[in-house]
Amino acid sequence: MKILLIGPPGGGKGTQAKKLSSKFNIPQVSTGDMLRDHVKKMSKLGIKAKEFMDQGELVPDELILKMMKSKLSDDNCKNGYILDGFPRTLPQAKGLDSLLDNIDSNLDKVIIIKVDDDVIIDRMGGRRVHKNSGRIYHIKYNPPKNEGLDDITNEPLSIRSDDKKETVKNRLKIYHDLTKPLINFYNLKNILFEVDGQNEIEDVFSSIINKL
Ligand code: ADP
Ligand code: ADP
Repeated sequence: MKILLIGPPGGGKGTQAKKLSSKFNIPQVSTGDMLRDHVKKMSKLGIKAKEFMDQGELVPDELILKMMKSKLSDDNCKNGYILDGFPRTLPQAKGLDSLLDNIDSNLDKVIIIKVDDDVIIDRMGGRRVHKNSGRIYHIKYNPPKNEGLDDITNEPLSIRSDDKKETVKNRLKIYHDLTKPLINFYNLKNILFEVDGQNEIEDVFSSIINKL
């Protein structure tokens, strides 16, 4: 099963992708997580990507497509995956189509997680992450068992450097301008489904499962 989650920054893609990944036992493929790994390792790609990420801008399509080309040919992606945060522009969607065509494959379902801008601003302010694992929390909506600490390792949680209010506004604008056109692109292929992302995490999860 190959599923793509599309939604605004902070819309809950990562949260839902992780739940789908454990339910169906297929990997979550998050370009955001992959890029943050590159930044941490200070690889060539990481050094380039950081400038864009810090500003809330998109990393250029060519770099993303190159990174995804090698990722999707990994052995652990053979039985399917959950794409989270890629593609994010029309050129990336077309690039993904040609990568999939080459291996005689295609996406099964595309799920749009709909969340209004004002809700996003509230969510991003409370997002906390465990850097090493990518586990995601929210101070109000999905708090860790012990304040400020990861449930599994007990290590301290951090705030993503691009979750500042100004950067979030820029990321939202980019979502509306560059990512939303994908809705029409996938609608024309008849594989698009929409869920209300403003319900509680478990309810959003059930609505996604109902569409699959
Ligand atoms: P969110 O979904 O909260 O916006 P992500 O973790 O998906 O966060 O992405 C963080 C940042 O990484 C983005 O703001 C962007 O700079 C970069 N990024 C992630 N995925 C892509 C992509 N597919 N194309 C371009 N840039 C990307
Ligand atoms: P994305 O990957 O789309 O950027 P995340 O999954 O990281 O989004 O979620 C952003 C923030 O909102 C996190 O702090 C997360 O715990 C919280 N969150 C996710 N889904 C919901 C929901 N349905 N209701 C309330 N908060 C949520």
